[in-house]
Amino acid sequence: MALIVQKYGGTSVGNTERIKNVAGRVAATKQAGNQVVVVVSAMSGVTDSLIKLAKEIQELPNEREMDMLLATGEQTTIALTAMALHALGHKAVSLTGAQAGIVTDGVHTKAKIANITPKRCHELLDAGHVVIVAGFQGETPDQQITTLGRGGSDLTAIALAAALKADLCQIFTDVDGVYTADPRIVKSAQKIPVISYDEMLEMASLGSKVMQSRSVEFAKKFGVVFEVRSSFNDNPGTIVKEETKQMEDVVIRGVSLDRNQAKVTIAHVPDRPGVAAKMFRTLGNAAINIDMIVQNVSAKGEKHTEISFTLDKAELAKAKKVMEPLAKEFGAEGIRTTEGIAKLSVVGVGMRSHSGVAAAMFEALAETGVNIEMISTSEIKISVVIDLERAEKAAHAVHEKFGLGKLK
Ligand code: ADP
Ligand code: ASP
Ligand code: MG
Repeated sequence: MALIVQKYGGTSVGNTERIKNVAGRVAATKQAGNQVVVVVSAMSGVTDSLIKLAKEIQELPNEREMDMLLATGEQTTIALTAMALHALGHKAVSLTGAQAGIVTDGVHTKAKIANITPKRCHELLDAGHVVIVAGFQGETPDQQITTLGRGGSDLTAIALAAALKADLCQIFTDVDGVYTADPRIVKSAQKIPVISYDEMLEMASLGSKVMQSRSVEFAKKFGVVFEVRSSFNDNPGTIVKEETKQMEDVVIRGVSLDRNQAKVTIAHVPDRPGVAAKMFRTLGNAAINIDMIVQNVSAKGEKHTEISFTLDKAELAKAKKVMEPLAKEFGAEGIRTTEGIAKLSVVGVGMRSHSGVAAAMFEALAETGVNIEMISTSEIKISVVIDLERAEKAAHAVHEKFGLGKLK
């Protein structure tokens, strides 16, 4: 008998028909003689609608209350899924994150899992139940409800698979697996049969939202091998696991596009030690994640400079709020923000042993007439910030340049 963790995302549980479809799949897995833990997301669009409601009341709502609100999305789905299994004659119990023993830190809206006590899950499984756990949520040691950041149900599934020592972890979604680019944007994208944790992690954090990046980080840390596959068919999906030697033969594994980026520029800040430190400490204390940073070299004799950084669009209002008093203190000219940018990246462990990747990428952009605003690289990725309006065209061009549409 195997213990299997299956996660079903928002589209897969988007209406009651689909929840019944999920229940059918879970029932078949149970009937084949397995113990099954199911993690579900909120029905598609629900989390977004809850956020919208909150913003209609206040632009920056209290984050504890935000978590209280957002956690209700997944709670609806667990109960409906349990009912759908009951209707098929199976024993099933729904559990909130807290009831499943998921303990987090207190950083509301993007809490980190501190530990999981899976005793209750094991007891219910041993009593013959399917256990249905609300994704994306947990509680602090002093019983405050928290959420794990957008897409956090992936993390719930992977963390539970690690804590329960599951034999298999399957992430069911609305595409057949991880592709060389978002198949909704790049039609010629191909499914990748096997991908390393590091490549998946880079792609996820660079905008390939098929997996939440923190969940991949967790999987890598605890060696959880998982499969990304469709809840609408039986096609084999993508296996995500430790890197193997052959993986370096492929130079570029995939192209990621992040259209949820924003840029903040602070003009005319003093060019002296401690200014950048203070700025980024303030942002760090507000739990705002910064991505690329560019500081202009000041002209000789000039005592001021300009600092720009990029971040998630969702954090822009908060960043502006904490930066405004600082900009005043520094006597800066002001804060400029823009949402009209996108980040385009190429990812592959093969980059470590192949040269000319940056050149090929920049040529593809040049041939398409796309200007590069910022560049950043790591051992296995190259990212550029470009104009949002031309981003899709640029993604196609780069994908084709590396021949990714022709993979078998
Ligand atoms: P779920 O609700 O199941 O978690 P998500 O919407 O979070 O599903 O993730 C699945 C979506 O990720 C797909 O519909 C697809 O548009 C998008 N996506 C982005 N990049 C990729 C990629 N490289 N491969 C597959 N899907 C991708
Ligand atoms: N419902 C949450 C979200 O939309 C978590 C998830 O779907 O994984 O971000
Ligand atoms: Mg998701």
